[in-house]
Amino acid sequence: MSGRSVILAIDQGTTSSRAILFSAELEILDVQQKELRLHFPRKGWVEQHPEDIWNDTLEVCRRILQTLSIGVESVAAIGITNQRETTILWDRSTGEPVYNAIVWQDRRTAALCQQLRDAGYEPLVEAKTGLLFDPYFSAGKIAWILDNVEGARERAERGELAFGTVDCYLLWRLTGGRVHATDVTNASRTLLYNIIEQKWDEALLALFGIPTIILPEVRDNVAGFGLTDPMLFGREIPIGGMAGDQQAAMIGQGCFQSGMVKSTYGTGCFALMNIGPDFRLSRNRLLTTPAYRLDGAMTYALEGSIFIAGAAIQWLRDGLGFFPDAAVSEAMALSVPDSNEVYFVPAFTGLGAPYWRPDVRGAMMGLSRETTKAHIVRAALEAQGYQTRDLMAAMEADGGCEVAVVRIDGGLSTNQFMCQFLADMLDRPVEVPQVTEATALGAACLAGLFAGIFPGFDAVERHWRRARIYEPMMAQAEREQLYHGWKAAVGALLAYTANVN
Ligand code: ADP
Repeated sequence: MSGRSVILAIDQGTTSSRAILFSAELEILDVQQKELRLHFPRKGWVEQHPEDIWNDTLEVCRRILQTLSIGVESVAAIGITNQRETTILWDRSTGEPVYNAIVWQDRRTAALCQQLRDAGYEPLVEAKTGLLFDPYFSAGKIAWILDNVEGARERAERGELAFGTVDCYLLWRLTGGRVHATDVTNASRTLLYNIIEQKWDEALLALFGIPTIILPEVRDNVAGFGLTDPMLFGREIPIGGMAGDQQAAMIGQGCFQSGMVKSTYGTGCFALMNIGPDFRLSRNRLLTTPAYRLDGAMTYALEGSIFIAGAAIQWLRDGLGFFPDAAVSEAMALSVPDSNEVYFVPAFTGLGAPYWRPDVRGAMMGLSRETTKAHIVRAALEAQGYQTRDLMAAMEADGGCEVAVVRIDGGLSTNQFMCQFLADMLDRPVEVPQVTEATALGAACLAGLFAGIFPGFDAVERHWRRARIYEPMMAQAEREQLYHGWKAAVGALLAYTANVN
């Protein structure tokens, strides 16, 4: 291998920071990873330390570049992908964050969102951003920091502070504070970016009381995002691609045609359906979101967002101490023939699509003296199938088309029990690609396009390879009976929430 022939993807996720090195043929050459801590200072609050996010990212990049026998010179470009919506405000001159990163799962702005909804603003916001009022998105989190950190609003208004989602913060750090920019997919998740006119929206900024001056510049997904500070890696490396994790996964899964669906099972689960170049709103409480923008041309997607997927397994591991390693959940689930009528609704941080109920919390139903850990683990994995079926039903009702096949990826997609149950519950084949790191692959594709390694998405599409396909095997009656139980469990939980609040 000679010349500038490898691509470095940075995948800064909710639970880990990764650096992944790809060849020009989009094969993984090396992965370096570090687990990232989440902090839960109060009920419903979820935070991370921006310095951890940065230091871990730098560390994994350095580790991977040090082991690179062909030298740093061979890195053609860097692509960045990231946990979306997570909000950071920092001082432009010192780089110091003014508050912890408020993570996408954080629910502290639920009351603000409800107020705005009650005031009738939701149709306006939906028409401009494709989103709904939910604490999930960044705008409320920015407003919270400006209102609750002493002096923050004044400093922001004087132009001393910068806002960024994680991509933007990492870019700023990687370029030694020279570039304050983001890409259209990340910008679109703030509730402040008009995805039709493709600009920050003055009316939305006014609604949340956020000064324009703190916002980054918004670029295409393939763009010159700047050069890394030479002090970091021993040479300047161009950053040429950027996308939020779910959009990056869509690219990595080669979902470039209208109607194609990918579903990623990491901390949460996010299913995106490509709907092509025309913006349209969901009638079933899905989000409309940019899939990608290349040379100024936008492609949109419908998105179903579920907040808790792998996080439920993580909770069984860390919170309840059920097993030392998430992978053990597969054998435990298979050790019992069924969940023994246990339903686990993992709404730890509220319910996302299609319910959008930030006030709901999780529940287990159907517990009996016979219930074992294995039944609970199985119910947690089965919940992924039920939650995805909720989304798929909404997508089909919206799209007016049958979803033929679903491509999945993310940490949970290595769990064969979960994959088979998903195929059974959706009654459709589920495909797992050879490269399950679809998110990082997407970022690498974008950077590769920038560096001229690939001429276009066609070339990327040709690299997609299926590793496994799970065919539905469950009888129709059983599927419907199980799903009926899930709908009843969610219904009961909604009723409980209404009574208790
Ligand atoms: P993120 O990018 O959101 O940090 P990942 O795609 O790395 O997430 O997936 C990690 C999540 O997947 C964790 O929540 C973990 O509990 C879960 N997970 C990983 N491997 C397995 C497995 N074999 N079975 C079940 N859950 C798993």
